[in-house]
Amino acid sequence: MPPLPLLLTLPTAFLLFLLLGYFGVPLWTWTLYCAGLLTLTHPPLWLWGLYGTGAVILNLPLLRRWLVTYPLMQAIQALKLFPHISETERAAIEAGTVWIEGEFFTGQPDFQRMLNEPYPDLTPEVQAFLEGSVEQVCRMTSDWEIYQRKDLPAEVWEYLKRERFFGMMIPAEYGGLGFSHLAYSAVMAKLASRSFTHVATVGVTNSLGPAKLLLRYGTPAQKQRYLPRLARGEEIPCFALTEPQAGSDAASITSEGVVFRGEDGQLYLRLNWEKRYITLGAIATLLGLAFQLKDPDNLLGKGENVGITCALIPTNTPGVIQNRRHDPMGVPFYNSPLLGKDVVVPIEQIIGGVEQAGQGWKMLMQSLAAGRGISFPATCTGVAKLVTRVTGAHALVRKQFGLSIGRFTGVEEPLARIGGFTYLLDAVRLYTCGAVDQGEQPAVVSAIAKYHSTELARQIINDGMDILGGAGICRGPRNLLANIYTAIPIAITVEGANILTRTMMIFGQGVIRCHPYVYLEIMALEQADVAAFDQAFWLHLGLILRNGCRAGFLNVTRSRWAQAPVTGPTAIYYRQLTWAAATFANLTDWAMLGLGGSLKRQETLTGRFADILSWLYLSTATLRRYEAEGCLPADLPFVEWTLRYGLAQIHNAILGLLQNMPLPLLGLLRPLLIGWWQMNSLGTMPSDELGHQVAMAMQTPGEQRDRITRTIYTPDHPEETLGRLDLAMCLSVKAEPIAQKIKAAIHTGQLPKAAPQHLLQPAQTLGIITPEEAALVQAAEAARRDAIEVDAFTLEAYQQTTLTIPEARASVSAFI
Ligand SMILES: Cc1cc2nc3c(=O)[nH]c(=O)nc-3n(C[C@H](O)[C@H](O)[C@H](O)COP(=O)(O)OP(=O)(O)OC[C@H]3O[C@@H](n4cnc5c(N)ncnc54)[C@H](O)[C@@H]3O)c2cc1C
Repeated sequence: MPPLPLLLTLPTAFLLFLLLGYFGVPLWTWTLYCAGLLTLTHPPLWLWGLYGTGAVILNLPLLRRWLVTYPLMQAIQALKLFPHISETERAAIEAGTVWIEGEFFTGQPDFQRMLNEPYPDLTPEVQAFLEGSVEQVCRMTSDWEIYQRKDLPAEVWEYLKRERFFGMMIPAEYGGLGFSHLAYSAVMAKLASRSFTHVATVGVTNSLGPAKLLLRYGTPAQKQRYLPRLARGEEIPCFALTEPQAGSDAASITSEGVVFRGEDGQLYLRLNWEKRYITLGAIATLLGLAFQLKDPDNLLGKGENVGITCALIPTNTPGVIQNRRHDPMGVPFYNSPLLGKDVVVPIEQIIGGVEQAGQGWKMLMQSLAAGRGISFPATCTGVAKLVTRVTGAHALVRKQFGLSIGRFTGVEEPLARIGGFTYLLDAVRLYTCGAVDQGEQPAVVSAIAKYHSTELARQIINDGMDILGGAGICRGPRNLLANIYTAIPIAITVEGANILTRTMMIFGQGVIRCHPYVYLEIMALEQADVAAFDQAFWLHLGLILRNGCRAGFLNVTRSRWAQAPVTGPTAIYYRQLTWAAATFANLTDWAMLGLGGSLKRQETLTGRFADILSWLYLSTATLRRYEAEGCLPADLPFVEWTLRYGLAQIHNAILGLLQNMPLPLLGLLRPLLIGWWQMNSLGTMPSDELGHQVAMAMQTPGEQRDRITRTIYTPDHPEETLGRLDLAMCLSVKAEPIAQKIKAAIHTGQLPKAAPQHLLQPAQTLGIITPEEAALVQAAEAARRDAIEVDAFTLEAYQQTTLTIPEARASVSAFI
């Protein structure tokens, strides 16, 4: 039995341990702490000697490096504890920058810094472009008409070119609009609310395509030659990377370009390729091609296998075959296979010239690092806002069982998901654009934005279709959702198919590039740099200890004493996210320690880690938006719904990790940890009351609904579905108090039992309502009837596959 003073001291020592760990004190403080502990046991002199020697070795870097770190490095290499990184992976990992996502890997995110990050706003010029040219292009043709034609009308193509839609991201000096990423994103969101064909067409010309690569890597001559023509739409570009054997594993392309000297003494490339899924491929005039460059005679002085290279190929060059197209989900945008047979172009067609030969993979990774976070998040936000507007109005004007369907709590549930996710998507879009416009190239955040915007849009459109019922399923000009429903898998697949984006890019690569020490350690190991490894490794150990203590403390106290950068109703979420981040960082380190290099192959685990990291970012973006927009009370239900949803996702992902991480050390502790985590939940799903508040805001015409769905195309005339729905919604709300008067009269027996719209005449006669009020109820009822109708085709028209637009318009009517 230990002496009493020792028994009393043990809890104090443990508390002190937690305190020192929580604040992450340096090694010498731990040395003193351990010495203090040792004193309590009155050790013999030899033990003091042993301790002193160890302490000196560990605290003196020069001794530590050679006596401890060096043998450790050898053991780590022998046991393959760190992942091996291939050249192509290295390019992906080194592409771009680490932005605020790095904060989460420290386990102690600085939310004040995150709140200080820019929250951008549109300039008056961009606002004018949105309200002028973009509004006009949306007005010129509808999604349904585009589907009927299976193409954009010729006048829309012309308009897009004339108004420089294809050169939004090209600087003004080359004749483009010189837009920021935010401006481009706003245009894409508005176009997406009208037609997916618009965004597919405009997206490629502005995002990853020849223009982007030329701007970044092109020679001055290439820029002068091509950029003005691309900006004016005189060249239609496409970019061809994907091949039948190289989809997600794009670095494995086999298309080939061989350097040779022509009879005129100049250097040329002879190219052979087989590409597929190339957007705009069938009509492109300028093809950006990725291929393996071979130089058998070493004419470039870079060896025989130069590596992946990008070049510009005018498609009128003999041997380019672009005579077929795919049919991606029936969405009428150009997407094609592309073949090249012995295509010969001058060596100067390599983007960036000979200097950039072999640098193609790096160029692509760097360009994608930020690009992924822009186009699809914008598209999905536009779609989400459209669905919010349509379903909110439909839920109010569509009545069943004598009530608006949106009053049933079963319908409120999907409505709330649509509303919460829409608020979140716009927050993420704006936050990410702000960073990219400040010069960041946040590869991991971009992957998070791409993955989650497309996945949430898929959930949103599924919910939207359910709420619309038959009106969502019957296709025709009245139906705004069916085409989005079929198109959404395209967004899931392109720019990094989603399964791979989640498991490999967000966490598999994210942990290496964003962790404060892991990449430094891997590099030091590869270069056998003992000093660099020593520094990173011991700081890493300190981090594990600190985050272990922090995670434990925050867990036991439910983060009650954690710091929040704000006061008020959202402060609690900052605290809970701090708790989540400390747990995430600590679990990450344990997973790497326990699984070593094999972690990246355990994709069910990396997927769960990716979910935690993602929801930390998505939640932070939501909080940032709330603060930046002035903490509006009307926004609070949307913010709280999103935060609770996010925390519940994090909770489940952590639970999944505890249940599935194959760590032998965890063996005995596992049931305890799981039990504790289940009892002491980080977050549960949003309450029904919160969902009700969000759903009601969506069904109430006015400022809040308009704010949540701002800057999309909202035609206000009843020729258009949205205009019809909005009109019916407003009239229904205005007519509601009048209907209530009639219902009250029914209740007191003044009027017989019947639907209010059938009692207008007797109600007027009895002076219960005025003639104007009766007219309003009638108008509301007519608008409501019109808004809930679906399209019906004549039997002949349905059979016809090619109709002119006027014929098609004439053949379809609402079946009233
Ligand atoms: C409509 C459309 C337009 C496109 N436009 C272009 C374009 O203009 N230019 C261009 O070059 N390319 C384009 N692409 C290609 C696109 O960007 C994707 O890279 C490509 O579709 C992915 O290859 P795949 O379809 O063959 O899927 P596969 O590679 O066969 O993948 C199938 C599934 O397996 C998953 N998967 C694969 N490997 C892993 C892994 N290691 N871990 C986890 N999951 C994995 C993927 O996530 C996916 O879900 C387009 C594709 C489509 C459909």
